[in-house]
Amino acid sequence: MALIVMKFGGTSVGTPEKIKAVAERVLRSKRAGNQMVVVLSAMSGETNRLIDLAQQMQELPDPREMDMLQSTGEQVSIALFSMAVKAAGDDAISLLGDQIKIQTDSVFTKARIEGIDSERIMAELNQGKVVTVAGFQGVASDGSITTLGRGGSDTTAVALAAALMADSCEIYTDVEGVYTTDPNICNKARKIDRISYDEMLELASLGAKVLDIRSVTFAKQYNVPVHVRSTFTETEGTWVVKEDKEMEGRIVSGVTYNKNEARITITGVPDQPGIASKIFTPISDADIIVDMIIQNQDVGNGLTDMTFTVMRTDYLRTMQLLQDMSDKIGAGDVHGSENITKISIVGVGMRNHSGIASTMFSVLAKEGINISLISTSEIKVSCVIEEKYTELAIRALHDAFELDKSDPPVEEDII
Ligand code: ADP
Ligand code: ASP
Ligand code: MG
Repeated sequence: MALIVMKFGGTSVGTPEKIKAVAERVLRSKRAGNQMVVVLSAMSGETNRLIDLAQQMQELPDPREMDMLQSTGEQVSIALFSMAVKAAGDDAISLLGDQIKIQTDSVFTKARIEGIDSERIMAELNQGKVVTVAGFQGVASDGSITTLGRGGSDTTAVALAAALMADSCEIYTDVEGVYTTDPNICNKARKIDRISYDEMLELASLGAKVLDIRSVTFAKQYNVPVHVRSTFTETEGTWVVKEDKEMEGRIVSGVTYNKNEARITITGVPDQPGIASKIFTPISDADIIVDMIIQNQDVGNGLTDMTFTVMRTDYLRTMQLLQDMSDKIGAGDVHGSENITKISIVGVGMRNHSGIASTMFSVLAKEGINISLISTSEIKVSCVIEEKYTELAIRALHDAFELDKSDPPVEEDII
């Protein structure tokens, strides 16, 4: 008998009919002799609806109350799902994060899982029940309900699979797996059969929302193979697993985009030791995360420019903080744009191949797309471009790196 954790996202449980279909799918696996733990998201649109309600009460909703509110979406779907299982003649029990216990820190709206008590789940499984767990939520040490951040149900599922030492962790969603780029943007996107934890971490952190990044961190840490697949077909999906030799042969595995960032520039900054710290300390003190930073070379007049990116939701606050700092240090103008996209290419093979970044730059240049910021790591290159070119850039890069072909090109072919 195998213990299987299955997670279904919001679109998979978006209507009563879909919940019943998911129950059937889970029961097929149970009746084949498996123990089933099912993690569910809120029905599609529900978390957004709750956030919208909160914003009608308070401009910046109280984080503790926000979690109290947001967690209700998953409570609804697990209760309905358990009813569907019972209606189909089997037995199930729904459990919230604090009933299990999924212990977290107390950073509301982006809490981290610190521990999971597997005792209750195992006891229910041993009584022959399908255990249905609310995704995305946990409980802090003072008993307050917490949530794990948007997309957090993936993390609940992988963390549970690790804690229960499950035989399999399956993430069911509205596409057939992890693709070379978002299949809803590029119709040439190809499903990847197997992808390494490190590549998936980069893809997730650079915008591929098909898996929440923290779920991949858990999977890598506890060596949980994750199978991402479709709720609506039986097709084999993508396995997220440890890196192997075959994966190194691929130079670029995927193209991602992130439209959630904004770019800010401060000009005429005195080029002196300590200036970067003066500029960025108030920003980090305000819990604003800065992503890419570029400082121009002093061109001779003792002044420099600095450009960086922050989350779009932090744009106005950061502009204000920076304007205050500019007045203090006698810098020049502060300006920026919210209409940007970060486009990235990712692949473990980049470690051993040169020229990938320059190929990316020339592909964008050929399309007349200007690059305003660049950052690289061992296995990725990211460029910030104007948002209106997002689809064009993705398709051009996907074509140039021949990602629609399953046999990756060798270095000489693409340079
Ligand atoms: P769920 O509600 O099941 O958690 P999400 O909406 O969070 O589903 O994630 C699935 C979506 O991720 C897909 O519909 C797709 O548009 C998007 N996506 C972005 N990049 C990729 C990619 N590289 N591969 C697959 N899907 C991707
Ligand atoms: N319901 C939450 C969200 O929409 C968590 C999840 O679906 O993973 O972000
Ligand atoms: Mg998701």
